[in-house]
Amino acid sequence: MTGPSTYLLERAWVDGAVRDDVLVTLEDGAFTSVTPMSRNSRLGDEASRQEREFHRLGGETVPTHVPGLTLPGLANCHSHAFHRALRGRTQRERGTFWTWREQMYAVAGRLDPDRYFALARATYREMVAAGYTSVGEFHYLHHRPDGTPYDDPAAMDAALRLAAEEAGIRMVLLDACYLSSGFGAPPTGVQVRYSDGSAARWAERAGPGPAAIHSVRAVPRDDLHVFRGRAPLHVHLSEQRAENEQCLAAYGVTPTRLLHEEGLLGPGTTVVHATHLTDDDIGLLGSSRSNVCITPTTERDLADGIGPARRLYDAGCRLGIGSDSHAVIDPFEELRGLEMDERLATQERGHWTAAELLDIGTAHDVIGIDRGGEIRVGRLADLVTIDTRSPRTAGTGSDEHTAVYAATAADVTHVVVGGTVVYTAADDDTIGRELDDAIGALWPRR
Ligand SMILES: [Zn+2]
Repeated sequence: MTGPSTYLLERAWVDGAVRDDVLVTLEDGAFTSVTPMSRNSRLGDEASRQEREFHRLGGETVPTHVPGLTLPGLANCHSHAFHRALRGRTQRERGTFWTWREQMYAVAGRLDPDRYFALARATYREMVAAGYTSVGEFHYLHHRPDGTPYDDPAAMDAALRLAAEEAGIRMVLLDACYLSSGFGAPPTGVQVRYSDGSAARWAERAGPGPAAIHSVRAVPRDDLHVFRGRAPLHVHLSEQRAENEQCLAAYGVTPTRLLHEEGLLGPGTTVVHATHLTDDDIGLLGSSRSNVCITPTTERDLADGIGPARRLYDAGCRLGIGSDSHAVIDPFEELRGLEMDERLATQERGHWTAAELLDIGTAHDVIGIDRGGEIRVGRLADLVTIDTRSPRTAGTGSDEHTAVYAATAADVTHVVVGGTVVYTAADDDTIGRELDDAIGALWPRR
């Protein structure tokens, strides 16, 4: 239990609009009052009443004044924390897909619970500093390098949970099942760390709770029933065309239709990427009200292609974003990526409004957190403030367009998660040093 704290936000995104001078009270991790104080606000009368009430109750408490534009917490719906160690390195020698994969496996092979804890904590700190207040960690690095379980089979999970706790980010650990390196092919090399050997053994180790199917490549069709009814349930889907072709060859249906036939689509399910879809796939995802996590900066980095985000949204899907491979950790870059990539693909502008993009950026429900994503009474008390007078944001209007089309992660100045301040700009040096140390330990010195 924490005592109440109050903030006077210079500007804030409340009920789908930017409002001036918003007084918020946070108690026990949630908002207990949210009041735009400005006289020209349509809530002006209510504001004066609340202001009087505030002074009556608060008396000596002076609210902390937060300059800038404050947003609800942003949700990172798809992360593999250890991929952060690859940034900048996989671009060497022009950075082909194989350069990336070889180095990803090399890092995956060097992690143990202590090293993973250090890397994940630094990575989560970077996320918090960028404005992400929740993260869905799609976790498949379960076992020792030779594939045998740790003495504590949950050692890697525990490392991630502690890392998130110390970084102050809210984490949903999506325990991923990975049994095969391709349709019918056994895991090889470092992939043996991912595999539990069978879906039954995965279920036994993972227990109930948030889950993930690595992909329809990695879990045989006969095992998919194990995941029916689980929520949140995440799955990588049709990121590259090869998966579609191999799925058609193996089962005669697309990956999306396979999930549909196995009863795995629905509001509790999130498909990640959904880049290469047929019209039928889009219809199935939309009519089942499945969620789709798009990861524009990763899809760009890995040359995956541009998914039909707008068509999925119009078909009825809830969308979220994720930093996935952490080539970039910047929610604002992901959000404008949705619009910008679609512009390049269609040679047309204007696919999304900034308000729609902010709604997508705050989709905590995509990882099963139902009370996040809004500055509203009863919601989780997350606040992300961006500087509206930085070299990037100055003169851009200090509204939702500033957030989506001008700001970067570097403009975030203040972050509150569940009522606790977890980041201020003064933390940047420490975060950089922690990342350097954690990542340096994984690479041989050159
Ligand atoms: Zn992924």
